[in-house]
Parts: sequence; C-alpha cells; structure tokens
Amino acid sequence: MDFRRTAALLAMRHRSLRQQVTLLVGVLCFALVCIVAAGAAYIAQSRVRGIVMAHEAQQAAVISDILDRGMFERYREARNLAAMPALKTIWTGEPAGIRQTLERIQASYPDYAWIGFATPDGTVRAATQGMLEGQSVQARPWFQDGLEGPAVGDVHEAKLLAKLLGPAPNNEPFRFVDVAAPVRDDAGRVIGVIGVHLSWTWADETRQSILGSQHQGDGRSIWILSADGTMLLGPRIGSKPFPEEQVRSMRQAKAGAFEHAASGREAMLTGFAVAEGYRDYPGLGWIVVSRQPDSIAFAATRGIVWMIMGLGCAIAAIGLVCALFIAKGVVRPLQTIIEAANRIGRDPAITQLPRVTGSLEIVQLSSALRSLLRRAGAAEQQVIATSSQHAKDVSTLRHLAETDALSGLLNRRGFSLLADDAFSLYRRYERPLALLILDIDFFKTINDTYGHVAGDAVIRSVGAALTKALRASDKVARFGGEEFVVLVHEVDAGGILTVAQNLRRAIEALTIEHQDHRIAVTVSVGGAMARRSDEDVQEVIERADSALYRAKAAGRNRVVIDGMQIQLASAVA
Ligand code: GH3
Ligand code: MG
Ligand code: MG
Repeated sequence: MDFRRTAALLAMRHRSLRQQVTLLVGVLCFALVCIVAAGAAYIAQSRVRGIVMAHEAQQAAVISDILDRGMFERYREARNLAAMPALKTIWTGEPAGIRQTLERIQASYPDYAWIGFATPDGTVRAATQGMLEGQSVQARPWFQDGLEGPAVGDVHEAKLLAKLLGPAPNNEPFRFVDVAAPVRDDAGRVIGVIGVHLSWTWADETRQSILGSQHQGDGRSIWILSADGTMLLGPRIGSKPFPEEQVRSMRQAKAGAFEHAASGREAMLTGFAVAEGYRDYPGLGWIVVSRQPDSIAFAATRGIVWMIMGLGCAIAAIGLVCALFIAKGVVRPLQTIIEAANRIGRDPAITQLPRVTGSLEIVQLSSALRSLLRRAGAAEQQVIATSSQHAKDVSTLRHLAETDALSGLLNRRGFSLLADDAFSLYRRYERPLALLILDIDFFKTINDTYGHVAGDAVIRSVGAALTKALRASDKVARFGGEEFVVLVHEVDAGGILTVAQNLRRAIEALTIEHQDHRIAVTVSVGGAMARRSDEDVQEVIERADSALYRAKAAGRNRVVIDGMQIQLASAVA
C-alpha cells in the first residue's frame, strides 16, 4: 500500500503544475463519478427492490383472494345443493335423478371433476358419470367431515377416482380439493353427504392467468403452499421450499415480503399472503408466494447507473477542460517569472523581475522575489564596496609594512622582496645586478652635536637625495640607523662604480638645514656585483657590507666595490 502511494507521488513529481492540476482534477472527477454512480445504483436498487417486494406481496394477496373467493363459491354451492328445499325429494329418490342433477351442476362448472352423493353408511348412491356408484367412501376424510357439517378438504391426489379418471391433461395424477356438505331431512337427521371434488387445475389456471399476463421466462413464479409449507402448486410438489421457521413467520405475518436466498441460488424477492377464507368459508391456510429474482431490481437500475455514469463522465470532461484552462491561467505568470529569472545575470539589461498579475499567492511571490532581488543587489553593492576597501586596506598595510616611516623609503622587508625577485631574474636571465650599501660617516657626532631630531632630518634628507640621484628603475631602501641599500639593475662593474660615486658625490654636495644649523655629511659606499656562485641576494649584501667596511676603514667618504682593488677617496674621484 505504502509502495503504491509512493509510486503515485513519484508520478506526480517532476510533472508540470498544469499536468498535476489536470491529473488531480481528472482523478477527482472520476472518483466522484464512480462514487455517485455506485451510490445511485445502491439507492435505486434498494428502492426498486422495495417496490418489487411490495408488488409481489400485493400479487400474492390478490391470488390468495381469488382462490379464497373461488373456494368460497364451491363451498357455498355445495351447501346450497345440500340445503335447497326444492331438491329434498331428489336425494331420497332414484339414483338416476340424483345423477342428472349432479351432472347438470358439473356441466355448469367444468373444474368439478366429480360430484357424488353418499348415504350415511358411506355408500355412493349416485355420482357424475356414475363413477364410484355403489362403492364405499366411508373411509374418505371428506365423507367423515361432511357428516358433521359443511367442510373443505385440502389438496390431495385422487384415490378411488384415479383409475376411473386416468391421468390429468398435464400427465400428472389428478389432484383435488374437496368440498362436502351433509343433506338433512326435515327432522334434521343426516340422510347423506354431498361430496365435490374440485380439480386442482383450477388453481393452476388462476396462477397461469396472472403469470400469463406478465412476461414469461423472466424467472417469476407463483407458488401455493399448504398451511404447513408443503408445495401444492409449483415445482416439486410435496417438497417444502422454505424452512419451518420461515413458514411460521409467514403464517404469523399473514402478508408481506422478504428476500429469500436459498444456498447456491440467486436471491429471490418474495411476496406472500396467507389465504384465510372468505366470509363463512374458513379457508385452508394456503400460503400464496409470488417471487421475482433479485436481478430484476438490478436490471431496472442498470439504465439509471449507465445514465449517471455517462452524465458524470461528460461533467468530468468539462471539469477537466476547465482545470486545463485554470491551470494555464495560474501557470502563465509563473512562467513569466521563471523566464525573467533565467535571464537575470545573463542579460545585463535585466536586473529585476516583472510585476505579474494573477492569484494572490503568485502576486505575493512576485513581490517577494522582487524584494529579494533588491536586497541581494544592495548586499552585492555592499560586498563590492567592502572588498574594494579591503583591497585598499591590504595595499595600505603592505605599503606600511614595506616602508620606512622616517624616510619614506623601502624598509628592509620591502627591499628584501624586491631584491629576491631581482636576484631570481638575474639567475634566470643573467641580467646584471649590483648592490650598494651606504653609511653616513660619523653620524653619532651629528646626533651628539645637533640632537637626535637633527639626526632624523639628516636621514630623511640623505634618503631623498639618494632617490633623486638614482634612476627610477633602481631602488633605495633604509636598512636601519643611518644605513641605506641600493639595488642597481643592468650595470657592469664599471657602471656600478659610477653610480656609487654619483651617489657619494650627491651626498657630499648636500647641505642640510636644520633650525639655525647647516649640516654637511658624507657617506661611505660599499658595492658588489651579483655572481653566479651566489646562493642568494644575502651573499651579495654581505660582500657589499664588507666592501663598506673597507671603505670606512680606508678613511670614509669613499667607494669600495667588491673585487676591485681601487679604493677611491673623494679627492681622487
Ligand atoms: P662611522 O663613520 O663609523 O659610521 O661612525 P658613526 O658615528 O656613524 O658610527 P655608527 O654608525 O656606529 O653610529 C650610528 C649612530 O646612529 C648610533 C645611533 O645613535 C645613531 N642612530 C641610529 N639610528 C638613528 C636614528 O634613527 N636617528 C638618529 N638621530 N640617530 C640614529
Ligand atoms: Mg652606521
Ligand atoms: Mg655611520
């Protein structure tokens, strides 16, 4: 079950909204049609079943009434025959006279199979067609009952008459209903019994006339049962089609209907009526049963169900088309949003979603997305501003980290980065590289003479003078204290010497004014060319430093280039 639900959900997933809405409406409409059709079928069937059962009950009551009235007529006729004063003399007269009278009565009503007159000792004195005349009917129940008074006897097979009458027209044995009445003389003594055997085909004809007016072969049937539920008229005469309990309840209810479901057979809608006699005819308690198969109710409602199904399907189809249109209307603004959203970021002209109209949620979605885009735009601007500020800060920090605060020149760190790069280039492309170290001579004395602030001013001025004297491609840095380093590109040994001397001379020519003082300074310069054997730039610096040391030692204000023997004093230069 769970698997099926998941499968159904999966079927819905990844489908367009339009397909989903249409599918849902379709399934809903179909389910609704089925429910309505099933409900209508159920209601209609139970109504029709009720109507059919009422009809069957009524039919049973009508037949029961016809039978009772018929029996009443026979009962009345027998009694009249016995009590008619005009006939009194006939019963005591010749058998021929009696026979004639009886035959006349028989002729008036062909269902009389036999009418006879028996004397009180049970001997048939006269009878129609002379049948049984002279024979004893003393043991016959009708005779016994007839001695007592007017009586009716329930259906039974012909006994004595069986041989005389032969088989009935339908090849079944003759069966009769008996009516008997005593004939009395003026003193009230019984002088004989009139017995009438009414052919049971009479009841069958009544049944056939009712059944015949209706459709044949549609499973309808009318049965007549005796008071104890034995089949008198219908299939399997003598059988008991209903259980005793059922017979008892039918006898109690007198009339009604029920659904009879015999095992393995189709249920039958069964109406019944108990024949209780008519006027002074007491009745034999026959139970008339009228039945129709239950399928008749189903057949009657089938048309209605099909009609509802057809109508429902038509409505469902209309619903489906409506759903398609509605879904289209709902989806259109969504599609507009999707298309615009897809172009944002690709098409620079589009930075915002269009305002769409549609259902409330879609309008809300559109305005929420628009607001989201606005906020995202603002956030983006902020990120851009922040990151550019950040870049600025980083470059400022780098500048600060690589710059000497006092002179504004590169500091040791800044210089090292440049020197490392330059040394790499030298190693890779063998582009000549030289390094100079300059140290102010007797700087301590300047500090001591003019003060530390003056010393600082001297450092700044020397730095500025060096920068001015150098090419833009050559870099100068303050290494700390009053010591400077210069990185010189693209020079040979002669070139570096010239540069060093130029620098030395530039400082020598410098006069620094501080407050009221004019301070003159000189520098000693050590230089070195990068060599193939150098591991790194530090080795060049070390050689330049030792050249500087030699310059100082040689008397200051001079240049010493590593590897050159010449030591140039200012005077020589
Ligand atoms: P030499 O000719 O041998 O170089 O003599 P010198 O006096 O210059 O000797 P040295 O290089 O040893 O002295 C450097 C002095 O510079 C020591 C220190 O007090 C001073 N000094 C170092 N840094 C600064 C600075 O930033 N400002 C000032 N005003 N003085 C500094
Ligand atoms: Mg020094
Ligand atoms: Mg010094």
